[in-house]
Amino acid sequence: MKIIAIANQKGGVGKTTTSINLSVCLAELGKRVLLIDLDPQANATSGLGVELPDDDEDASFSLYHPLIGDVPALDKVMPTRIENLSIIPSEMNLAGTEIELARTDNHLTRLQEVLAPLREADQFDYCFLDTPPSLGVLMTTSLAASDEVLIPLQCEWFGLEGLAKIVGVIEQIRDSGANPNTGVEGIVMTMFDSRTNLARQVTDEVRAHFEEQVYNTVIPRSIRLGESPSFGLPIIEHDPRGPGANAYRSLAKEFLARHTTTSDPSTEEHSATD
Ligand code: ADP
Ligand code: MG
Repeated sequence: MKIIAIANQKGGVGKTTTSINLSVCLAELGKRVLLIDLDPQANATSGLGVELPDDDEDASFSLYHPLIGDVPALDKVMPTRIENLSIIPSEMNLAGTEIELARTDNHLTRLQEVLAPLREADQFDYCFLDTPPSLGVLMTTSLAASDEVLIPLQCEWFGLEGLAKIVGVIEQIRDSGANPNTGVEGIVMTMFDSRTNLARQVTDEVRAHFEEQVYNTVIPRSIRLGESPSFGLPIIEHDPRGPGANAYRSLAKEFLARHTTTSDPSTEEHSATD
C-alpha cells in the first residue's frame, strides 16, 4: 500500500476535489483505494456522498480515536457505494485532534504509527490523505506518514508562493528524521482556464522549475466539477463525459503510469472487470 498525502497549505486549490476524483478514477481502473479524510471540515466525506449513521451519538467514525487513543484505524474503514473504494471519514471531532496531538511528544509520527497496521493488512493499493488547509499538526503528521506528496496547484500567481512553502515543509519533515523518504510525487495544475493567458503563464513557470514532476494532465476549471460535491457525486457520475471527468480519468492513468514499473507484480492484479 502506497500512502499519498494530497497537500497544499492553501485552501481552495483543489485538494479535496483531487482526493475524491483521483481515488474514484483509480478505483474505476480496478485499484483498491482507501481515502482518508483528515480535514475536520469533512469535505471529502460529504463530497463523496458518505452519510454517517446518527443513531448513536457516542459513535465516532473519524481517525480521532485512533489518533489520540488506541483504537485501530482498521475499525474506522468504511466501504463506499463505489466498487474498490473505501473511506475513513472525517467529523468535526478531528478539530480536537489538532490540539490534543500537539500536546504529545510524538505527534509528528503519530499518523505513521496509526497507519502501520493498515499497510500490513495489504487490503489497499493506494491510500490517499486529504489534508486540511493549514500547516497544523494534522497536516504535518500526514506528510510524515506519506510515502509521497501530491500537490494540487491552482493556476494563479499567488499559487506559486504557496508551492515554495509546501515544498520547504516537506524538506523539513524529511530532515527531521520523522520520515526521511517522503518527497513530492507530483504537482497537478488545477482550475485551468484556457481563456486566460495567466493560466498558461503560471503553468509554464511551474513546468520550468519542476519539469517532469508536473503532471501533463491539467484539470480545467469547470462548473460541473465545482458543483459535483453538492450532489455528493464524483465527477465521473455527475458529468461522465464532461471535461472534468476526462481530466481526472487522464490523471489517474498518468498516476498509474508513474507508479507502474514492469517489475511490479501488483499492477495486473485487479482489473476493472474483476
Ligand atoms: P481544497 O480542498 O484545496 O480546499 P477544493 O477541492 O475543496 O479545494 O476546491 C475548492 C472549491 O473549488 C470547491 O468549491 C470545489 O468544488 C471547487 N473546485 C475545485 N476544483 C474545481 C475545478 N477544476 N473547477 C471548478 N471548481 C472547482
Ligand atoms: Mg479540502
